[in-house]
Amino acid sequence: MISKEIFRAYDIRGIVGKTLQISDAYLIGQALATYLKKYSDPSIIIARDGRLSSPTLSKALKNGLLEHGIHVIDVGEIPTPLLYFATCHLTTKNGVIITASHNPAEYNGFKIVINGKPLPQEGIQLLYSLIVNQEFTQEKGHYSQVDIIPAYFQKIQADFQCPRPFKIVIDCANSIAGKIAPSLFRKLGFEVVELFCEPDGRFPNHLPDPSEPENLLTLIATVKETQAALGIAYDGDADRVFIIDETGRWIPADYLLMLFATEVLSLQPAAEIVFDIKCSYHLRKLIEKLGGKATLIRTGHTFLKKQIHDSKAALGGEASGHFVFNDRWYGFDDGFYATVRVLEIMQRSGKKLSELLAAFPLSALTPELKIAMAEESKTAFINHFKQLIQSQPIKIIDLDGLRVEFPYGWGLIRPSNTTPYLTLRFEADTEENLTQIKQFFRQHLLQIQPQLALPF
Ligand SMILES: [Zn+2]
Repeated sequence: MISKEIFRAYDIRGIVGKTLQISDAYLIGQALATYLKKYSDPSIIIARDGRLSSPTLSKALKNGLLEHGIHVIDVGEIPTPLLYFATCHLTTKNGVIITASHNPAEYNGFKIVINGKPLPQEGIQLLYSLIVNQEFTQEKGHYSQVDIIPAYFQKIQADFQCPRPFKIVIDCANSIAGKIAPSLFRKLGFEVVELFCEPDGRFPNHLPDPSEPENLLTLIATVKETQAALGIAYDGDADRVFIIDETGRWIPADYLLMLFATEVLSLQPAAEIVFDIKCSYHLRKLIEKLGGKATLIRTGHTFLKKQIHDSKAALGGEASGHFVFNDRWYGFDDGFYATVRVLEIMQRSGKKLSELLAAFPLSALTPELKIAMAEESKTAFINHFKQLIQSQPIKIIDLDGLRVEFPYGWGLIRPSNTTPYLTLRFEADTEENLTQIKQFFRQHLLQIQPQLALPF
């Protein structure tokens, strides 16, 4: 029996051989075939990342689709943004990629796009019930292969303006991003220093998760050593990017979003910009000061893209490193394209990244912090936390977990949708006030569970 827990909020994901069997991919292919015939056209693009289990899962998925009358267009091994690009560039707007993004090597999963939009949670749950109820129709399909990489390179080269080469360091963590990033940026005229750019599904150097500071250490050291203008780290499927400036400093994604917002609003003055609940309050202030419309949403790249599509916002992003350009690009999250836009701004201004970012006000802001917690306990814990703090003179935003607002800052606690953790973040106008907010959280968290291991 297929495991229900792998059908999650934004995608299907599990541990291969444990919660996700190869035969599950065949069942998912069959269910997808039924879904496509009902809600879209009977064709889909399939892709896979560089994990060791990806070819076998892809074959099983393909068979499930082909036995039920679907035209399967296989674009092979690529990062996720190129699958999204293929759904914009080829005739069908449906796509599925076998990937577990930044997760360790034993994981794998499926990210699905239907009619040009990420399949929402209800759609993912519907696939599960189609499998359980065996609602499949027999019909012979058709298989073809396409190389999407040349078209993607061409599109970016056509969009990229004013190249003036400088040196950049790229860390791909041996993920499939390495198949694209070095050659793309060399084609654009940059001098590329490669770190771990050979795809290797075992991830022998470090995990493809740049949100963990330990995974950025080699990149930071190499940027300093080679005196590069920029350090770039992609997550396992390159829909996210993290940037290091020329001094070796990590740039929080919400500060990068301030840079992008300034750029986009200079061209489209009243544009809407969408960002998630983890972002700095300076981002909202900046967007509003520049005459833009600031829209705060819950965390999750599917919610981000849906909001951007629905409201035709020009730009969106998340503190987790997803950036969605919908002005000169297609409105999907793409780590490579976001890098291109950073480089373009640097080139045109003639400034270093640290100089560009010095324009934005700083606050005392922590990175994302994590508390390990079992999936089934997260909601009850957060509800308990809310009960404890409700009577206090604070404002609570419960759009996604709890964002507790104080006159001088905020603290956030929310259940991660992709990992067995609660995630937290704090921001205040001064370090002293940040300590106060942390203390407020610490006190109430430990009141619920005195043994809880806190990372702050
Ligand atoms: Zn990813």
